[in-house]
Amino acid sequence: MNEITINLPNVVMPICSEVKMLKGQKALVTGANSGIGKGVVLELAKAGADVVINYRGGEQAALELVEQVKKCGVNVFAFQADVSNENEVKAMFEKTFKEFGTIDILVNNAGLQKDAPIDEMTLEQWNTVINVNLTGQFLCAREAVKEFKRRGVIADISCSAGKIIHISSVHEVIPWAGHVNYAASKGGVMLMMKSIAQEVAPFRIRVNSISPGAIRTPINTSAWETKEAYDDLMKLIPYKRIGEVDDIGRAAAWLASDYADYINGTSIYIDGGMTLYPGFATGG
Ligand code: NAD
Repeated sequence: MNEITINLPNVVMPICSEVKMLKGQKALVTGANSGIGKGVVLELAKAGADVVINYRGGEQAALELVEQVKKCGVNVFAFQADVSNENEVKAMFEKTFKEFGTIDILVNNAGLQKDAPIDEMTLEQWNTVINVNLTGQFLCAREAVKEFKRRGVIADISCSAGKIIHISSVHEVIPWAGHVNYAASKGGVMLMMKSIAQEVAPFRIRVNSISPGAIRTPINTSAWETKEAYDDLMKLIPYKRIGEVDDIGRAAAWLASDYADYINGTSIYIDGGMTLYPGFATGG
């Protein structure tokens, strides 16, 4: 195993993906056949977790990912469910318990946008985004917490009884004109995450968010596919590069592991500094 030495006496940090820091743990990732969800699945599997790949559409992509994950030597299956549908979510967790016995890690990733100016936004656009991005995360978190509380800590597996990672967004704190449904959903995720974390911490359950900035995925193609769009995007990113799904996947694997055991109820912004008010670098 390769090791890197950090600049502290007697501290040697192993390279995370090589120590199988999630070995024996069972993870469910929603909206996992594309973009960030796919990146998270691959990093969890590399770290040794068995994985459920939730998808709604795009069965072929889900099945291809199953084959890719199998190469990591872990157990994996794909399950079709709409995270905003209570019965489908319950069926997905039942199938997870049948196949894997339990669950240790939930990554609440499924999400979408339905953009429109506020005076043109339909109730359907509003409801669809809130139902998937916020209610969907609630429905999955509820089922996971039930199981975490029922099972408790199994010390050989993890020092925590369970971990939930909500995939939120920098738009939980940055207002976003033309996307009020999306920003409202992610703002809701932030306080839902913190409230669940406060409630279940005594059961040794950890609940956190990863809040990405601009990550190169199908959800935001128009923001990076042309040079003009990319250059424009860079005005918002002090670190001057777009994020990749691996940036999120690696952080999710670490956050789900015991390396992050004392992190609870917080949002980790992975955004190249997008939340640093870059306009103030030269103004203000
Ligand atoms: P994506 O479109 O590639 O992935 C979204 C996934 O969610 C897709 O697989 C989609 O099928 C799935 N999904 C949508 N509705 C669903 C439903 N009802 N049930 C189950 N699955 C459903 O986009 P992405 O960028 O990978 O987005 C993943 C998450 O990251 C979202 O929550 C998004 O809000 C968040 N996010 C993305 C960025 C970014 O820059 N890409 C930034 C901040 C936050």
